[in-house]
Amino acid sequence: MPTHIETENPVRVRFAPSPTGFVHIGSLRTALFTYLFARKCRGVNILRVEDTDQARFVLGALDNMLRVFQRLGITFDEGFRINAEGAVESIGNYGPYRQSDRLSLYNEYIHELLEKKAAYYCFCSTERLDQVRKDQAAHKLAPMYDKHCRKLSESEIAEQLASFKAAGKNPVVRLAVPQEGRMEWNDLVYGLIGFDLRVIDDQILLKSDGYPTYHFAVVVDDHLMQISHVTRGEDWISSTPKQLLLYKSFGWNPPIFAHFPNILNQNKKKLSKRQGDVMVDDFLKKGYLPETLINFVALLGWNPKTEQEIFSLTELEQVFDITHVHKAGAVFDTQKLDWLNGAYLRQKTPTELAGLLLPYWQEAELISETTSMDYLAMVAGVEQERLKYLSEIVDRTKYFFKAPQYEASLLVWKKSTPEETVARLEGIVDALKLLPSDAQADYVSAATLEQVIRKVMEKHGWDNGSTLWPMRVALTGLSASPGPFEVASVLTKQGGLQVIITRLEAAIEKLNS
Ligand code: GLU
Repeated sequence: MPTHIETENPVRVRFAPSPTGFVHIGSLRTALFTYLFARKCRGVNILRVEDTDQARFVLGALDNMLRVFQRLGITFDEGFRINAEGAVESIGNYGPYRQSDRLSLYNEYIHELLEKKAAYYCFCSTERLDQVRKDQAAHKLAPMYDKHCRKLSESEIAEQLASFKAAGKNPVVRLAVPQEGRMEWNDLVYGLIGFDLRVIDDQILLKSDGYPTYHFAVVVDDHLMQISHVTRGEDWISSTPKQLLLYKSFGWNPPIFAHFPNILNQNKKKLSKRQGDVMVDDFLKKGYLPETLINFVALLGWNPKTEQEIFSLTELEQVFDITHVHKAGAVFDTQKLDWLNGAYLRQKTPTELAGLLLPYWQEAELISETTSMDYLAMVAGVEQERLKYLSEIVDRTKYFFKAPQYEASLLVWKKSTPEETVARLEGIVDALKLLPSDAQADYVSAATLEQVIRKVMEKHGWDNGSTLWPMRVALTGLSASPGPFEVASVLTKQGGLQVIITRLEAAIEKLNS
């Protein structure tokens, strides 16, 4: 392991979301890598809620988020968790873990910076700031605060403070970025990164509503919570020099930083929340298994350096290596997600699979309390090889629970005629009716059904297409489905041969009318 991963301090990492709503794939990846790093190093994984941007706060978002993580198996040792009673509770000795509960702390630290002249009050009006920005744009300059209030004398500051106070207003506080020098750090993923201080704006640290900005709160909290490694997405790289400057101003040791590459869509553009289909909840609802999502997201930017593609969470906890996270954007490949989920679905027994599918059949009102689990396991077994995600099951298996609806023309094989089709279906019905009476109400294997039906086909010289196509359509109502003998056999499990005979007769009737 390279030396820049090492620290004398115990490993303490945090996942620090703004609770804007639900967990999306990008935040799951940050949370997962952070969790895996903590487990691998026997460190502490912390959940901190960054809610200083009041407007973005969504009630219940923390609860939602914790439930998603719980389903996926990601746990937090400090911060928040769902307790045995199912309620959200705060745990740990470094709290409060919600920034809006820490306002007085930030206030204390802002005064330290003001005293050290590492920060200053800014009294500029929105109108003045807009004008500065316009002038800069006219001169093709990057928008930046022109440091106007940094030049105020002590008496001017006192005067402005008094008039703000009289008006019941608060000035903002800005970081006094030195006019020269560089901020550099050795990123665990990106290696040495440096920024010239000249390009860094005099960032607002405390807003006029008394709330800290992200940059300020994050540094105070990471320091007070003794965070050893800051792990987050690539988007935050440009924030790091400002934060390093704050550590320097306070005289604190900064943590080690690791930034994770962006997640890209198939067109190599950054995956955005607006594109839909990025919410973890939606993936779960669609029927991607928690273990698939963990496995898939673990490989978004991390290279296991082996051919292995299937990893359980426990395995990942042992093998994850943060220094093998790569810099290049990680492409979100939906086909790979489907493949991986299919692989996990095929590892289940048909009964386990039926248990997972149950809610989908229930929601579609396809089954009742009397539907036997044996039958459901058989239905699940028929689709197990093909299934990509659980919600697909409804359309794929409707006909196992309800007589199918379809057009009469679908029954006729392309090289056949309606008359021939009727003859074939009648031939099959007659053959089935000849089966022993105890089979009529009982399960009949696919092999027996095939034997009986092939015998009739041979006798009349009927080919597969003109005979088995209409049989399959009569049973399923679909132009594509598993084979006719397999489908027919499963159907007998619930209601015996009569179920098949009724469907074949309904098809004959459709063609004759
Ligand atoms: N609150 C930030 C976010 O929403 C956290 C960034 C960080 O980890 O420093 O992602």
